[in-house]
Amino acid sequence: VKKIAVLTSGGDSQGMNAAVRAVVRSALYRGLEVYGVQRGYQGLLNQDLRPMDLRSVGDIIQRGGTILQTARCKEFMTAEGQQRGADVLREHGIDGLVVIGGDGSYQGANKLSKLGIKTMGLPGTIDNDIPFTDFTIGFDTAVSIVVDAINKLRDTMTSHERSSVVEVMGRHCGDIALYAGLASGAEAIIVPEVPFDIKDISHRMKDNFQKGKRHGIVVVAEGVCSGEDVARNITEHSGIEPRVTVLGHIQRGGSPTHNDRILASQLADYAVQRLQEGDSGKGIGIMKGEFVATDIEKVVTTKKSFNLDLYNLALRLSQ
Ligand code: ATP
Repeated sequence: VKKIAVLTSGGDSQGMNAAVRAVVRSALYRGLEVYGVQRGYQGLLNQDLRPMDLRSVGDIIQRGGTILQTARCKEFMTAEGQQRGADVLREHGIDGLVVIGGDGSYQGANKLSKLGIKTMGLPGTIDNDIPFTDFTIGFDTAVSIVVDAINKLRDTMTSHERSSVVEVMGRHCGDIALYAGLASGAEAIIVPEVPFDIKDISHRMKDNFQKGKRHGIVVVAEGVCSGEDVARNITEHSGIEPRVTVLGHIQRGGSPTHNDRILASQLADYAVQRLQEGDSGKGIGIMKGEFVATDIEKVVTTKKSFNLDLYNLALRLSQ
Protein backbone atom coordinates (compact mmCIF):
# COMPACT_ATOMS: atom_id res chain seq x y z
CA VAL A 1 0.00 0.00 0.00
CA LYS A 2 1.46 3.34 -1.08
CA LYS A 3 -1.47 5.71 -1.22
CA ILE A 4 -4.42 5.69 1.16
CA ALA A 5 -7.58 7.74 1.68
CA VAL A 6 -9.66 8.58 4.73
CA LEU A 7 -13.36 9.41 5.03
CA THR A 8 -15.94 10.00 7.76
CA SER A 9 -19.42 8.56 7.27
CA GLY A 10 -22.83 8.24 8.95
CA GLY A 11 -23.55 10.26 12.08
CA ASP A 12 -20.65 12.43 13.25
CA SER A 13 -19.04 12.12 16.67
CA GLN A 14 -16.56 14.08 18.72
CA GLY A 15 -13.05 12.82 18.07
CA MET A 16 -13.56 12.17 14.36
CA ASN A 17 -11.25 15.10 13.66
CA ALA A 18 -8.62 13.72 16.00
CA ALA A 19 -8.91 10.42 14.09
CA VAL A 20 -8.59 12.12 10.68
CA ARG A 21 -5.56 14.03 11.92
CA ALA A 22 -3.93 10.87 13.20
CA VAL A 23 -4.62 8.90 10.00
CA VAL A 24 -3.07 11.67 7.91
CA ARG A 25 -0.04 12.23 10.09
CA SER A 26 0.59 8.56 10.77
CA ALA A 27 0.42 7.84 7.02
CA LEU A 28 2.80 10.67 6.16
CA TYR A 29 5.16 9.56 8.93
CA ARG A 30 5.22 6.09 7.38
CA GLY A 31 5.97 7.48 3.93
CA LEU A 32 2.48 6.94 2.49
CA GLU A 33 0.53 9.46 0.44
CA VAL A 34 -2.88 10.26 1.90
CA TYR A 35 -6.11 11.69 0.48
CA GLY A 36 -9.13 13.08 2.30
CA VAL A 37 -12.56 12.23 0.90
CA GLN A 38 -15.22 14.88 1.53
CA ARG A 39 -18.77 13.82 2.61
CA GLY A 40 -18.31 10.09 3.08
CA TYR A 41 -19.23 7.60 0.35
CA GLN A 42 -21.21 10.31 -1.47
CA GLY A 43 -18.03 12.34 -1.88
CA LEU A 44 -16.20 9.25 -3.06
CA LEU A 45 -18.75 8.74 -5.86
CA ASN A 46 -18.52 12.46 -6.69
CA GLN A 47 -14.71 12.15 -6.79
CA ASP A 48 -14.51 14.81 -4.13
CA LEU A 49 -11.07 14.00 -2.80
CA ARG A 50 -7.88 15.93 -2.23
CA PRO A 51 -4.33 15.24 -1.10
CA MET A 52 -3.74 15.92 2.59
CA ASP A 53 -0.52 17.24 4.08
CA LEU A 54 0.67 17.79 7.64
CA ARG A 55 -0.85 21.27 7.79
CA SER A 56 -4.23 20.27 6.35
CA VAL A 57 -5.07 18.65 9.68
CA GLY A 58 -3.65 21.39 11.90
CA ASP A 59 -5.79 22.94 14.63
CA ILE A 60 -8.52 20.29 14.48
CA ILE A 61 -7.70 17.85 17.30
CA GLN A 62 -9.84 19.90 19.70
CA ARG A 63 -12.80 20.41 17.38
CA GLY A 64 -16.10 18.50 17.33
CA GLY A 65 -17.72 17.51 14.03
CA THR A 66 -15.55 16.43 11.11
CA ILE A 67 -13.61 18.63 8.71
CA LEU A 68 -14.19 15.97 6.05
CA GLN A 69 -17.94 16.29 6.67
CA THR A 70 -20.17 13.27 6.54
CA ALA A 71 -23.16 12.05 4.57
CA ARG A 72 -25.51 9.17 4.11
CA CYS A 73 -25.37 7.82 0.57
CA LYS A 74 -28.11 5.62 -0.90
CA GLU A 75 -26.25 5.00 -4.14
CA PHE A 76 -23.41 3.36 -2.26
CA MET A 77 -25.81 0.73 -0.90
CA THR A 78 -26.02 -0.75 -4.43
CA ALA A 79 -23.47 -3.09 -6.01
CA GLU A 80 -22.99 -0.60 -8.88
CA GLY A 81 -22.32 2.23 -6.44
CA GLN A 82 -19.79 0.17 -4.55
CA GLN A 83 -18.03 -0.85 -7.79
CA ARG A 84 -17.86 2.79 -8.84
CA GLY A 85 -16.42 3.71 -5.45
CA ALA A 86 -13.67 1.12 -5.88
CA ASP A 87 -13.05 2.35 -9.45
CA VAL A 88 -12.72 5.99 -8.31
CA LEU A 89 -10.14 4.99 -5.72
CA ARG A 90 -8.19 2.94 -8.28
CA GLU A 91 -8.28 5.79 -10.82
CA HIS A 92 -6.56 7.92 -8.20
CA GLY A 93 -4.03 5.19 -7.51
CA ILE A 94 -5.42 4.69 -4.00
CA ASP A 95 -5.25 1.14 -2.68
CA GLY A 96 -6.09 1.64 0.99
CA LEU A 97 -9.00 3.33 2.79
CA VAL A 98 -9.75 4.19 6.40
CA VAL A 99 -13.47 4.59 7.11
CA ILE A 100 -14.44 6.36 10.31
CA GLY A 101 -18.09 5.74 11.21
CA GLY A 102 -20.71 3.41 12.63
CA ASP A 103 -21.89 -0.03 11.57
CA GLY A 104 -23.46 1.12 8.30
CA SER A 105 -20.18 2.71 7.32
CA TYR A 106 -18.41 -0.52 8.25
CA GLN A 107 -20.66 -2.46 5.87
CA GLY A 108 -19.61 -0.12 3.07
CA ALA A 109 -15.95 -0.65 3.98
CA ASN A 110 -16.50 -4.39 3.93
CA LYS A 111 -17.93 -4.21 0.40
CA LEU A 112 -14.95 -2.18 -0.82
CA SER A 113 -12.61 -4.69 0.78
CA LYS A 114 -14.30 -7.48 -1.21
CA LEU A 115 -13.71 -5.41 -4.36
CA GLY A 116 -9.97 -5.40 -3.68
CA ILE A 117 -9.53 -2.07 -1.84
CA LYS A 118 -7.70 -2.56 1.44
CA THR A 119 -9.98 -1.11 4.11
CA MET A 120 -9.95 -0.44 7.85
CA GLY A 121 -12.91 0.68 9.96
CA LEU A 122 -12.54 3.01 12.93
CA PRO A 123 -15.48 3.10 15.38
CA GLY A 124 -16.68 6.71 15.16
CA THR A 125 -20.03 7.01 16.95
CA ILE A 126 -21.24 8.34 20.29
CA ASP A 127 -23.48 5.29 20.76
CA ASN A 128 -20.75 2.82 21.81
CA ASP A 129 -22.68 0.17 19.86
CA ILE A 130 -19.76 -1.36 17.96
CA PRO A 131 -18.47 -4.69 19.29
CA PHE A 132 -14.79 -5.71 19.58
CA THR A 133 -13.81 -2.41 21.11
CA ASP A 134 -14.41 -1.35 24.71
CA PHE A 135 -15.25 2.17 23.60
CA THR A 136 -16.08 4.02 20.40
CA ILE A 137 -14.71 7.44 19.46
CA GLY A 138 -17.11 10.09 20.79
CA PHE A 139 -18.75 8.03 23.52
CA ASP A 140 -16.68 9.48 26.35
CA THR A 141 -17.47 13.05 25.29
CA ALA A 142 -21.19 12.31 24.89
CA VAL A 143 -21.33 10.81 28.38
CA SER A 144 -19.52 13.88 29.81
CA ILE A 145 -22.08 16.14 28.18
CA VAL A 146 -24.98 14.17 29.67
CA VAL A 147 -23.36 14.12 33.11
CA ASP A 148 -22.78 17.88 32.94
CA ALA A 149 -26.42 18.44 31.95
CA ILE A 150 -27.70 16.24 34.78
CA ASN A 151 -25.50 18.14 37.28
CA LYS A 152 -27.24 21.32 36.23
CA LEU A 153 -30.68 19.77 36.36
CA ARG A 154 -29.94 18.36 39.79
CA ASP A 155 -29.22 21.85 41.19
CA THR A 156 -32.62 23.16 40.23
CA MET A 157 -34.42 19.88 40.98
CA THR A 158 -33.05 19.88 44.53
CA SER A 159 -34.10 23.50 45.09
CA HIS A 160 -37.64 22.67 44.10
CA GLU A 161 -37.71 19.07 45.39
CA ARG A 162 -38.66 17.83 41.97
CA SER A 163 -37.75 14.95 39.72
CA SER A 164 -36.45 14.81 36.19
CA VAL A 165 -36.59 12.39 33.31
CA VAL A 166 -33.62 12.81 30.96
CA GLU A 167 -33.82 11.24 27.50
CA VAL A 168 -30.43 10.47 26.01
CA MET A 169 -29.15 9.17 22.66
CA GLY A 170 -27.70 5.76 21.90
CA ARG A 171 -30.29 4.28 19.54
CA HIS A 172 -30.44 0.54 20.31
CA CYS A 173 -27.56 0.71 22.74
CA GLY A 174 -28.07 1.71 26.37
CA ASP A 175 -24.43 2.59 27.12
CA ILE A 176 -24.80 6.39 27.16
CA ALA A 177 -27.73 6.04 29.58
CA LEU A 178 -25.88 3.47 31.70
CA TYR A 179 -22.57 5.31 32.04
CA ALA A 180 -24.11 8.76 32.43
CA GLY A 181 -26.76 7.40 34.81
CA LEU A 182 -24.21 5.71 37.05
CA ALA A 183 -21.89 8.72 36.96
CA SER A 184 -24.63 11.14 37.93
CA GLY A 185 -26.38 9.07 40.55
CA ALA A 186 -29.62 8.52 38.67
CA GLU A 187 -32.41 6.77 40.53
CA ALA A 188 -33.35 4.67 37.55
CA ILE A 189 -31.68 3.88 34.23
CA ILE A 190 -33.90 2.61 31.46
CA VAL A 191 -32.06 0.83 28.65
CA PRO A 192 -33.10 -1.45 25.77
CA GLU A 193 -30.97 -4.32 27.07
CA VAL A 194 -32.76 -4.79 30.42
CA PRO A 195 -36.52 -5.20 30.99
CA PHE A 196 -37.94 -2.61 33.37
CA ASP A 197 -41.09 -2.11 35.39
CA ILE A 198 -42.29 1.49 35.39
CA LYS A 199 -44.63 0.81 38.30
CA ASP A 200 -41.70 -0.35 40.38
CA ILE A 201 -39.61 2.69 39.42
CA SER A 202 -42.49 5.03 40.26
CA HIS A 203 -43.08 3.46 43.65
CA ARG A 204 -39.38 3.55 44.45
CA MET A 205 -39.25 7.26 43.58
CA LYS A 206 -42.24 8.02 45.78
CA ASP A 207 -40.75 5.98 48.59
CA ASN A 208 -37.40 7.76 48.31
CA PHE A 209 -39.07 11.17 48.41
CA GLN A 210 -40.90 10.12 51.55
CA LYS A 211 -37.60 8.98 53.06
CA GLY A 212 -36.15 12.46 52.55
CA LYS A 213 -34.61 12.37 49.08
CA ARG A 214 -34.73 15.87 47.61
CA HIS A 215 -34.59 15.05 43.90
CA GLY A 216 -35.04 12.15 41.54
CA ILE A 217 -33.38 11.56 38.20
CA VAL A 218 -34.42 8.95 35.69
CA VAL A 219 -32.28 8.46 32.59
CA VAL A 220 -33.93 6.81 29.60
CA ALA A 221 -32.21 5.67 26.40
CA GLU A 222 -34.03 6.87 23.28
CA GLY A 223 -34.16 3.28 21.95
CA VAL A 224 -36.65 2.28 24.66
CA CYS A 225 -39.28 5.03 24.53
CA SER A 226 -39.52 8.80 24.86
CA GLY A 227 -38.85 10.73 28.05
CA GLU A 228 -42.43 12.04 27.81
CA ASP A 229 -43.81 8.48 27.92
CA VAL A 230 -41.74 7.66 30.98
CA ALA A 231 -42.84 10.84 32.78
CA ARG A 232 -46.50 10.21 31.98
CA ASN A 233 -46.28 6.68 33.37
CA ILE A 234 -44.52 7.82 36.52
CA THR A 235 -47.25 10.38 37.14
CA GLU A 236 -49.90 7.74 36.59
CA HIS A 237 -48.37 5.33 39.10
CA SER A 238 -47.14 7.74 41.77
CA GLY A 239 -48.59 11.19 41.31
CA ILE A 240 -45.04 12.58 40.94
CA GLU A 241 -44.78 14.96 38.00
CA PRO A 242 -41.26 14.79 36.59
CA ARG A 243 -39.89 17.44 34.24
CA VAL A 244 -38.63 16.06 30.94
CA THR A 245 -35.37 17.04 29.27
CA VAL A 246 -34.45 15.70 25.84
CA LEU A 247 -30.77 16.36 25.28
CA GLY A 248 -30.77 15.56 21.55
CA HIS A 249 -27.94 16.57 19.23
CA ILE A 250 -26.11 18.56 21.91
CA GLN A 251 -24.70 15.14 22.81
CA ARG A 252 -22.92 14.91 19.47
CA GLY A 253 -21.17 18.29 19.55
CA GLY A 254 -18.43 20.10 21.37
CA SER A 255 -14.77 19.57 21.97
CA PRO A 256 -13.77 15.92 22.46
CA THR A 257 -12.47 14.83 25.88
CA HIS A 258 -8.84 13.84 26.19
CA ASN A 259 -9.97 10.20 26.35
CA ASP A 260 -11.64 10.47 22.94
CA ARG A 261 -8.66 12.29 21.42
CA ILE A 262 -6.24 9.68 22.70
CA LEU A 263 -8.48 6.76 21.64
CA ALA A 264 -8.87 8.29 18.17
CA SER A 265 -5.12 8.82 17.82
CA GLN A 266 -4.25 5.31 18.93
CA LEU A 267 -6.85 3.52 16.81
CA ALA A 268 -6.03 5.58 13.72
CA ASP A 269 -2.31 4.95 13.98
CA TYR A 270 -2.92 1.22 14.43
CA ALA A 271 -5.26 1.16 11.41
CA VAL A 272 -2.63 2.81 9.21
CA GLN A 273 0.01 0.39 10.46
CA ARG A 274 -2.21 -2.60 9.57
CA LEU A 275 -2.93 -1.13 6.13
CA GLN A 276 0.75 -0.66 5.48
CA GLU A 277 1.31 -4.28 6.39
CA GLY A 278 -1.24 -5.21 3.71
CA ASP A 279 -4.12 -6.17 6.00
CA SER A 280 -7.70 -5.45 4.90
CA GLY A 281 -11.36 -5.69 5.91
CA LYS A 282 -10.79 -5.11 9.62
CA GLY A 283 -12.60 -3.15 12.33
CA ILE A 284 -10.08 -1.65 14.73
CA GLY A 285 -10.59 -1.42 18.48
CA ILE A 286 -8.99 -1.57 21.88
CA MET A 287 -10.10 -4.24 24.37
CA LYS A 288 -8.65 -4.30 27.87
CA GLY A 289 -5.74 -2.16 26.72
CA GLU A 290 -4.86 -4.33 23.68
CA PHE A 291 -5.33 -3.31 20.06
CA VAL A 292 -7.60 -5.65 18.15
CA ALA A 293 -8.34 -5.95 14.44
CA THR A 294 -11.49 -7.99 13.83
CA ASP A 295 -12.98 -9.05 10.47
CA ILE A 296 -15.56 -6.39 9.62
CA GLU A 297 -17.99 -9.14 8.66
CA LYS A 298 -17.80 -10.37 12.26
CA VAL A 299 -18.05 -6.85 13.69
CA VAL A 300 -21.27 -6.06 11.81
CA THR A 301 -22.92 -9.38 12.61
CA THR A 302 -22.16 -9.39 16.35
CA LYS A 303 -24.21 -7.53 18.94
CA LYS A 304 -22.23 -5.56 21.48
CA SER A 305 -22.58 -7.12 24.92
CA PHE A 306 -24.09 -5.04 27.69
CA ASN A 307 -22.27 -4.45 30.96
CA LEU A 308 -24.80 -5.91 33.40
CA ASP A 309 -22.39 -5.64 36.34
CA LEU A 310 -22.26 -1.88 35.88
CA TYR A 311 -26.05 -1.75 35.55
CA ASN A 312 -26.54 -3.73 38.76
CA LEU A 313 -24.03 -1.53 40.56
CA ALA A 314 -25.97 1.57 39.51
CA LEU A 315 -29.15 -0.07 40.80
CA ARG A 316 -27.57 -0.95 44.17
CA LEU A 317 -26.30 2.59 44.66
CA SER A 318 -29.46 4.36 43.58
CA GLN A 319 -31.46 4.17 46.79
P1 ATP B 1 -24.21 6.02 12.86
O1 ATP B 1 -24.10 4.77 13.70
O2 ATP B 1 -23.57 7.15 13.55
O3 ATP B 1 -25.54 6.32 12.33
P2 ATP B 1 -23.48 4.64 10.48
O4 ATP B 1 -22.17 4.47 9.82
O5 ATP B 1 -24.08 3.40 11.04
O6 ATP B 1 -23.29 5.76 11.57
P3 ATP B 1 -25.36 4.72 8.29
O7 ATP B 1 -26.21 5.81 7.81
O8 ATP B 1 -25.96 3.43 8.70
O9 ATP B 1 -24.50 5.36 9.49
O10 ATP B 1 -24.27 4.39 7.17
C1 ATP B 1 -23.52 5.40 6.56
C2 ATP B 1 -23.39 5.11 5.08
O11 ATP B 1 -22.69 3.88 4.89
C3 ATP B 1 -24.69 4.95 4.33
O12 ATP B 1 -25.28 6.17 3.95
C4 ATP B 1 -24.26 4.15 3.11
O13 ATP B 1 -23.66 4.99 2.14
C5 ATP B 1 -23.17 3.24 3.69
N1 ATP B 1 -23.75 1.93 4.00
C6 ATP B 1 -24.60 1.61 5.01
N2 ATP B 1 -24.97 0.32 4.95
C7 ATP B 1 -24.36 -0.20 3.87
C8 ATP B 1 -24.35 -1.50 3.26
N3 ATP B 1 -25.04 -2.53 3.74
N4 ATP B 1 -23.58 -1.67 2.15
C9 ATP B 1 -22.88 -0.63 1.64
N5 ATP B 1 -22.86 0.59 2.15
C10 ATP B 1 -23.58 0.83 3.25
